[in-house]
Amino acid sequence: MPTCDAELSVPADSAGSVRTHSEPRCHVCDSVGDILYSGLRDRLFGAPGEWTLRRCQNAGCGLLWLDPMPVVEDLPKLYQTYYTHSTGDQPTLTGSVREAMKRAYWRATYGPNGSRLPAMLLTLAPGFRAQLALQVFDLQHVEGGRLLDVGCGSGAALERMARLGWECEGIDFDEKAVDAGRARGLTIQVGSLEHQRYPDQSFDAVVMNHVLEHVPDPRLLIRECYRILKPEGQFVCITPNAASWCHSLFGTDWRGLEPPRHLHIFTQSSALRLMREIGWDNVEARSSIANSHGIGLASWNLKRYSRLDMLPKRNVWQSILARLFQISASLRLSIISTTGEEILLRAKR
Ligand SMILES: [Zn+2]
Repeated sequence: MPTCDAELSVPADSAGSVRTHSEPRCHVCDSVGDILYSGLRDRLFGAPGEWTLRRCQNAGCGLLWLDPMPVVEDLPKLYQTYYTHSTGDQPTLTGSVREAMKRAYWRATYGPNGSRLPAMLLTLAPGFRAQLALQVFDLQHVEGGRLLDVGCGSGAALERMARLGWECEGIDFDEKAVDAGRARGLTIQVGSLEHQRYPDQSFDAVVMNHVLEHVPDPRLLIRECYRILKPEGQFVCITPNAASWCHSLFGTDWRGLEPPRHLHIFTQSSALRLMREIGWDNVEARSSIANSHGIGLASWNLKRYSRLDMLPKRNVWQSILARLFQISASLRLSIISTTGEEILLRAKR
């Protein structure tokens, strides 16, 4: 975080107008970082600037981060053309049947009297099982428990969790997304978690799906999650994995980099270290193949076409390719358990 105006600068090429400050040291362990990539551009949404990523020299940490780092006040400039959180297309018959089957699976697995049996039946489809699990945060059921989704968008996950018996609330910066969710009767606040000033120990569960990598101060955010969670409350956080298979395969074309919106990209060890320093003793981090199909395909397309259409219509070939990525990721994960595309952090207070 910048401490004074003298630290601010604008990237030399300056595509833009995004002011930055120097960030030579690791947010987690304070080690210096080596330059991993430079000259990175936003090939997804066209945010201005050329960007450099550092990797923490501490091999036991491995955090990646932008240096220079956009200043907090200019972060909205990185989201000018970002996809707004839509409420989705009109459902087709096939889509409706698929959704009904998913809901039945979630009720049987994560609802009241949930059982692990349905998940065991999907042993031969581990990617699909992981997808279903992450879509409901793999949360242990608490009847009537209060759940907060930080970065909930228009609230698709809130609706899912409410059907499973949770009393749900969300927060998001995107006012359009919040309006869309509120129009469907959801309780969603606008802004940052810290500014909501929730009382201590307010929630039975706090969840975050692809939020941690976007915030300038992950330590502050996770500390706040800890404060508002009840004793025995569950915390689940999903974020890209810097040590993933597709990152090693595609390098600067890896979809998970997303410069300059991904400010910090964690490894399992850096995420665990941060959590434990904040006070979470009961915490585990594992990598997941849930979205390996989408991330693998997007990285492939970035490498091939250099830019990515964020709302592509997949043809049969692309769908097959995506599933091949997920099957390969699954096989690889069974050998090296840290190489999934996303980190799933689970903790109890
Ligand atoms: Zn570090």
